[in-house]
Amino acid sequence: MNREVFRKEEQVLGEARAAVATAQDKGKPVAPVFSSLVDEYGRLLRQSRRLVTMGDRMQQTLNSLNHDLAVGEQKYRGIFENVTEGIYRCEADGTMVEVNPAMAAMFGFRDSESFLASVRNFKSLFCSPEDYELYESLLRADDVWRYQVKTCGPESGTIWSEISASAISGQDGGATDGVVGVMADVTERKHMVEEMCRLARTDSLTGLFNRGYFMDLAARELARVQRNGGGLSLLIVDVDYFKAVNDTYGHDVGDKALITLSRILMNSVREVDVVGRFGGEEFVVLLPDAHRPDACRVADRILEHVRAAMIDASDGSFAMTVSIGLTSFEDEGDDLDSLVKYADIALYAAKKNGRDRVEVYRRSACSCRQADCVEAATAGGGQKQ
Ligand code: GH3
Ligand code: MG
Ligand code: MG
Repeated sequence: MNREVFRKEEQVLGEARAAVATAQDKGKPVAPVFSSLVDEYGRLLRQSRRLVTMGDRMQQTLNSLNHDLAVGEQKYRGIFENVTEGIYRCEADGTMVEVNPAMAAMFGFRDSESFLASVRNFKSLFCSPEDYELYESLLRADDVWRYQVKTCGPESGTIWSEISASAISGQDGGATDGVVGVMADVTERKHMVEEMCRLARTDSLTGLFNRGYFMDLAARELARVQRNGGGLSLLIVDVDYFKAVNDTYGHDVGDKALITLSRILMNSVREVDVVGRFGGEEFVVLLPDAHRPDACRVADRILEHVRAAMIDASDGSFAMTVSIGLTSFEDEGDDLDSLVKYADIALYAAKKNGRDRVEVYRRSACSCRQADCVEAATAGGGQKQ
């Protein structure tokens, strides 16, 4: 269209120039205003042509940008629709704007539309308001982060979600235009990690805490008692002549006896007490808030319960006995290794003094921390204190 207009204009301009030239050739006078009008017209025409060319180029650039935008949008849509992680977009106040199919499926919805019809605000996906507050503060922090949090949609149970999101900056750096984020269901991973942690701290045969984890818990309790005062006692419990149990009834029965013993220990102590398997047929019991007399009562109870328990073997049943070494926290300088060493010294004395008994490691009446500071505590409540 423009080209057509220009052609006509060029033609008119050409004719005007020719008229001026012919008149000048023939020596006819040409009004100066007419000549300058023709020149001006020519200039305007050149400018118009430049402007139109510029406009064409701008249009081409715009077309190319639109094309790039469409390709980008197509790519984004491709990712949005097919990625396995959930993607969401919401307004600054949490009002949901869009979610991808993966996010809908993650929360038990058939598609994005049914999700949006049911979940109006992102906040409602958080199991606790405090967790949402933390999420909001992370958004404000303007940093890269990943946040694992318990979420619970109306169509799903509790899901451990890993969220990473960022605020969409508003125009000219103004208020945010909302939030876009990615959410992944990490429930299985979380459970696996928990299970690995449980296995790492548990003895596989008895289900009790293993030595490493017991020592961690004991160190925490010791630090607490060193800080706040109060009692703390430690028992080491060792099965008497256990090798003979294995030799007589077989290793499987021996295992069963250890499992029975672990149950007896658990049933003989309070909720707050900590029971662990130290290794082999040796167990440990930590008694927070228990001074020596309380600990002696617990130790005696264990002796009684073990004596009374019958373990089934293929040809009848048998009973076991245990020996116990006991020590109580007395000195702020005591560290955990020292307490274990004292209980071990007392255990050694219990074995030496005839087994099926408790021996108490006592230092207060002694001038040094030596094995001969151990005194006998008779089973049945008559401990020497
Ligand atoms: P003492 O009264 O002096 O403690 O004698 P003991 O026979 O109990 O002690 P000893 O150290 O001689 O033997 C411990 C036995 O415990 C030897 C080992 O085979 C057995 N044992 C260690 N761990 C296990 C286990 O997990 N299962 C079974 N069945 N036996 C175990
Ligand atoms: Mg033993
Ligand atoms: Mg032993």
